Amino acid sequence: MAITDILIVGGGIAGASLAARLAGERKVTLIEAEDLCGRHSTGRSAAFWQASLGAGTPERTLSLLSKPFFDANWPWGDVPLLRRRGTLHLIHEEGQRLRDIESSGEFALDYLDRAALDAKLPGLRDQWIGAWWEPSCADIEVAAFHAACLAAARRKGAAIRTDHQLRTATRQGDGWRVETSGGDIEAGIIVDAAGAWGDEVAARCGVGAIGLTPKRRTVVQLRIGRGDCRDIPMVTDLHESFYFKGEGERSVWVCPLDETPVEPCDAAPEELDVAIAIDRFEKAVRWPVEAVERKWAGLRTFTADKRMRFGFDPDEPGFFWCVGQGGMGIQTAPAASLLSARLILGQPLGDELAGLSANDFAPKA
Ligand SMILES: Cc1cc2nc3c(=O)[nH]c(=O)nc-3n(C[C@H](O)[C@H](O)[C@H](O)COP(=O)(O)OP(=O)(O)OC[C@H]3O[C@@H](n4cnc5c(N)ncnc54)[C@H](O)[C@@H]3O)c2cc1C
Repeated sequence: MAITDILIVGGGIAGASLAARLAGERKVTLIEAEDLCGRHSTGRSAAFWQASLGAGTPERTLSLLSKPFFDANWPWGDVPLLRRRGTLHLIHEEGQRLRDIESSGEFALDYLDRAALDAKLPGLRDQWIGAWWEPSCADIEVAAFHAACLAAARRKGAAIRTDHQLRTATRQGDGWRVETSGGDIEAGIIVDAAGAWGDEVAARCGVGAIGLTPKRRTVVQLRIGRGDCRDIPMVTDLHESFYFKGEGERSVWVCPLDETPVEPCDAAPEELDVAIAIDRFEKAVRWPVEAVERKWAGLRTFTADKRMRFGFDPDEPGFFWCVGQGGMGIQTAPAASLLSARLILGQPLGDELAGLSANDFAPKA
């Protein structure tokens, strides 16, 4: 039987980035139910880093603390992980504010009147009177980031086991005896990084639920009649009814910001959400839609208060939660994985995580 110190359940970005942090420090095994890591939420994101998300929360701090790691191509890859794009937050009423961030000073934010908006992005319809421009936002090379995490974990000795679904785990001495679809494993600690399945994995380990709700979100890739689309920034409206960004030379990714609660599943797009995405896009811009090229849906999984949870279960100290990443799991992963690793190893959080405390993310607090 395989024996490991730390068994990470889930091969999305949460599990992969944590494996990269812990490998070399302890014997680490990552198990993934699918035949490929990253098939679920991680492979379906909009691939964006945006500082203004999560105003006033420690998750915002995680995003800001993750930026230097992305800039340094963490974990030791040579592919640049961020590509600057910027976000336009469109305004259609005088005085609309971008929540509380205009004066936060944590990142640049400039007001554009309609003339400046037209200069930056010609082709918007008339209702937009201006925009807030957030220049620091960037595309994340998610596939490269995820692959680099897995490669780093492997290089440092971690075992990555796909087609290994955790079925049950029972306490054995100080550790766990874990039954998986690929064979049994003895583990000291179980880390639950199973995304939408986080509560299900906990139940299989005899641990009480944390209260996770997966919510389906849809993205549609449209070919549009507008010349080169590569210069289209991320564009969103302050009513939070859509976002879109350029994709390649002739296409855009459009999201209707749907958040439909569903059971954990292999999410698929609903025709109604696709239609809503196209309708909102056509009402925002003058560019003709020529074809739907691709569409997909994924799950963003939230706790009841929408806060992420990283920490040992208060009733089951051998079980570590790494869940509730919602819509920010990629952009926070470098700092979130460091935080989780330090908590698991019993180390102080340190300067790289300045401004955060373990209590910010305590499970079942
Ligand atoms: C449409 C969309 C757009 C998004 N855009 C962004 C964005 O721009 N920026 C951003 O930062 N975030 C974004 N997100 C959110 C981001 O994708 C998630 O927060 C992140 O991917 C969550 O990663 P994860 O590893 O927790 O989950 P997942 O990637 O879902 O990984 C969990 C894994 O656990 C495995 N698993 C489940 N049960 C078991 C079991 N019993 N045994 C073994 N393995 C198991 C699953 O197969 C799965 O692979 C977006 C999400 C969606 C859906």
